[in-house]
Amino acid sequence: MTKILAITNQKGGVGKTTTSVNLAASLAASGQRILLVDLDPQANATMGSGVNKQTIQVTVYHVLLGDASIQASRVTGTQGKYDLIPANRDLAGAEVEMVELSQRETRLKTALEVIAHEYDYILIDCPPALNLLTLNGLCAARAVMIPMQCEYYALEGLSDLVNTIKRVRNNFNPTLRIEGLLRTMFDPRNILAQQVSDQLQKHFGEKVYRTVIPRNVRLAEAPGFGLPVLYHDEQSKGAQAYLELAKEILHA
Ligand code: ATP
Ligand code: MG
Repeated sequence: MTKILAITNQKGGVGKTTTSVNLAASLAASGQRILLVDLDPQANATMGSGVNKQTIQVTVYHVLLGDASIQASRVTGTQGKYDLIPANRDLAGAEVEMVELSQRETRLKTALEVIAHEYDYILIDCPPALNLLTLNGLCAARAVMIPMQCEYYALEGLSDLVNTIKRVRNNFNPTLRIEGLLRTMFDPRNILAQQVSDQLQKHFGEKVYRTVIPRNVRLAEAPGFGLPVLYHDEQSKGAQAYLELAKEILHA
């Protein structure tokens, strides 16, 4: 059965998109059939996949509003060897426009049901907010992956997210669970990062991925080339870490 993962954290800049793009490419590199859904008006996952947000005509926005089929929006065979449902700035309006529509929380879920059987994994890159777009991601998903930086306020934000997940479970998606917490941009020499990491493991135990994503400049440069880091510098620590994460997920 297709595994649909929402990559979510309402905190901005924690590595959601970097994880979405690079995990998609790493899973695809091990022969998995992958679809990446860009659910953020910033469209960073679209650009990071080498798809120009300025020129695409049909996006996830049209799909959510029922103006296009999901197949019509799909970009097949990106350079990262996965398929993409792209986004652009139009998506910022979807929030308001969807309020009027029926089943506004489950529109992505319904759309994905049509093509889910074609994939082993579907990854959904959520925006940095607990809004209707993220809600659509959480309703469509089987599980949530939470990338986070081990900083002082990280744990505080986590409780809001955990409460939102509980609410989605009660109202829309009873089997939604947390798949795992991913430590991103990790610097082991930073004492605070170590402490937060220890706390995280104490609270969430097995839910914390063993794989840690280090801070690595190659990961930050790769989107500038429209490439996952794997095809920018395969030997880099960043590329190796996401390959390791893919392995951990596949063998879980
Ligand atoms: P937003 O909330 O705005 O959607 P995000 O959670 O998707 O942000 P990213 O865009 O993935 O976060 O990352 C934020 C910034 O940090 C980007 O410039 C990215 O290139 C950089 N970055 C992410 N992960 C790493 C890493 N492991 N090492 C170095 N830089 C990183
Ligand atoms: Mg992002």
